[in-house]
Amino acid sequence: MKLLLLGKGGQVGWELQRSLAPLGELVALDFDSAELHADFSRPEQLADTVRQVRPDVIVNAAAHTAVDKAESEPDVARKLNATSPGVVAEAAQQIGALMVHYSTDYVFDGSGSAPWREDDATGPLSVYGRTKLEGEQLVAAHCARHLILRTSWVYAARGGNFAKTMLRLAKERERLTVIDDQFGAPTGAELLADVTAHAIRDTLRDPAKVGLYHVVAGGETTWHGYARFVLEQAEAAGVALKASPAAVDPVPTSAFPTPAVRPHNSRLDTSKFQSTFGLRLPPWQEGVARMLRETL
Ligand code: NDP
Repeated sequence: MKLLLLGKGGQVGWELQRSLAPLGELVALDFDSAELHADFSRPEQLADTVRQVRPDVIVNAAAHTAVDKAESEPDVARKLNATSPGVVAEAAQQIGALMVHYSTDYVFDGSGSAPWREDDATGPLSVYGRTKLEGEQLVAAHCARHLILRTSWVYAARGGNFAKTMLRLAKERERLTVIDDQFGAPTGAELLADVTAHAIRDTLRDPAKVGLYHVVAGGETTWHGYARFVLEQAEAAGVALKASPAAVDPVPTSAFPTPAVRPHNSRLDTSKFQSTFGLRLPPWQEGVARMLRETL
């Protein structure tokens, strides 16, 4: 079997390089890959790349994920998040490949407190959310054999992340203020990559499993709860902090105005994914604690 991974250098793309490798021959590309075109700002070239590689499975981890920046460059965001995934999906359909694509909780308007289900009405609040919604619609419309995985609050051990920022700030300052009115589940890129590989294998055996799924770690928290958890873990590991977990003050989203509006309720109901693929999505604390053990 042959797999084509697009966006290999991102948080999820990096982990997919590891988790997809045992499934077959893996061609992994980034936007500046020399040998084959995989620049999502040039959609016209992507179909050629798909035809040249002729993979059985395409996994798209490339995206415009700078949520605030997207507000001032909607055309670029649309190209990366919608037009190009649509082109890849058309090419995938032509060669009969399975296409895996990621989307986001930002397709919802964040109202209420119930976890969003796959068939709930969408209502994106931002350019990022709107372009990601358009992208998932194009992928579904153009490629019958698709898995679209909506996730949220993705972190990775590699590079910067929210937990590392909180640790740095807690070493520098005596008090921190963190938002406590956005609810979601921090989800490790490692976990996403691993369950993607399982879902691919399962869908290749049982094509009826194609479709749209919500995939996040178990449980829920706020950014405030997440920050406190990180500092508790750091304290338990003997890290010297100026700000203890109790010195993290909760504030509303309005305390940190940003160009893009974020949803308050980012909870995603993952029961469809867990029951279809027979997988368990572990509590978010397990992945964050593990990432911290690697980091501290
Ligand atoms: P990253 O931003 O870490 O990765 C995105 C990748 O796309 C990077 O490798 C980036 O390269 C690449 N990219 C940027 N511009 C182009 C381009 N013109 N052509 C090709 N590739 C390009 O995102 P994540 O790994 O976190 O996200 C993976 C998926 O999950 C995306 O679909 C995202 O929308 C979705 N998602 C992410 C969430 C999050 O919290 N991060 C939450 C919910 C969903 P470079 O780094 O060099 O710019």
